[in-house]
Amino acid sequence: MSSTRFQRILLKVGGESLIGDRDYGIDPQAALNVAERIKSIHEKGVQVAVVIGGGNIFRGISASKNGIDRATADYMGMLATVMNALALQDALEKSNVETRVQSALVMPSVAESFVRRRAIRHMEKGRVIILAAGTGSPYVTTDTGASLHALELQCDVLMKATKVDGIFDKDPVKFPDARRFKTLTFADAINMPGVEVMDTAALAMSKENNMPLMVFELFKGNNLQEAVEGGDVGTYVSNDVETAFA
Ligand code: UDP
Repeated sequence: MSSTRFQRILLKVGGESLIGDRDYGIDPQAALNVAERIKSIHEKGVQVAVVIGGGNIFRGISASKNGIDRATADYMGMLATVMNALALQDALEKSNVETRVQSALVMPSVAESFVRRRAIRHMEKGRVIILAAGTGSPYVTTDTGASLHALELQCDVLMKATKVDGIFDKDPVKFPDARRFKTLTFADAINMPGVEVMDTAALAMSKENNMPLMVFELFKGNNLQEAVEGGDVGTYVSNDVETAFA
């Protein structure tokens, strides 16, 4: 057992974290940078499941606006997450972290199929489990996959790594006066105008099942290590807090 606050976490990493300086696709060095962060908490004995996105390669909703059938485009997006999962697996194993990829779309030549009890067993044996293909169903994103997997794998918390350090009252990239929340209720995360966290479906599932959510920047300082130790990083979303600015 680890001595950290959280023993088992679900880390949601967007596909863009693998893009590096490119406009599109996978930069192996960026994958290694993500792997290094994951390794730093794995070394502390934290059990880690990673849900990887696909936005660096393909997003269903954008492709459907350009004329591809929405469900087909979403399946293409899920395939993109499988490519990212393999890239992250490669980077983690190069960093001497044992891993397994499990996919919600059956693909036996490249990944195990998602089996809940098996995923838990892998984590108990010290393997980082990388979950590909989100939920395996179209019309949602990997955020919903992350919320679902956090619940069924009995994680202590869902951590969403983002490009900005937490949740703001408006887009901090566009508005320099945007303010960061230190804590946020799920109700406010869902209903407050201007606040964008993750899909409503994902938030609703986390809210109804009391799965706390932390949102922070993966590459800022030692954010991930501090987060698993219960440090005050990014924004903490729960049913048990009051909404407050940092
Ligand atoms: N996707 C899906 N169902 C899922 C997960 C993902 O249809 O359960 C598709 C969807 O088209 C999405 C794409 O896969 O746009 C890539 O995932 P996402 O946009 O969540 O990636 P991220 O933004 O996290 O990189």
